[in-house]
Amino acid sequence: MSPRRSRRLDPFDRGGNRGASRPVGGSVPGVDRIEEWPDGDWRVRRVTGAGTDKVYRCPGCDQEIRAGLPHLVSWPAWPGGEDERRHWHTACWRNRVKRGPGRSRY
Ligand SMILES: [Zn+2]
Repeated sequence: MSPRRSRRLDPFDRGGNRGASRPVGGSVPGVDRIEEWPDGDWRVRRVTGAGTDKVYRCPGCDQEIRAGLPHLVSWPAWPGGEDERRHWHTACWRNRVKRGPGRSRY
């Protein structure tokens, strides 16, 4: 009785590099992406909220974003937009345009 025997028939049981650790892409902190909205293009950055005890106020619901809560930061994707950074609850950002006309973007 040899449980190892079947492994010799496994065509994938070679090439020791499979599954080796390598840099993980796609979830690198601090990477921005552009989102297109009816009111223009916005840069959006996801932040984990970890590592800070700073509390932000969400402009969508006017409630605090608790320290350590994952949320996002957005600002207009046009020159100078970096000065307009706002911290948002993720859900509030998604619902932003549903608040209707006549409201401030912020
Ligand atoms: Zn909110």
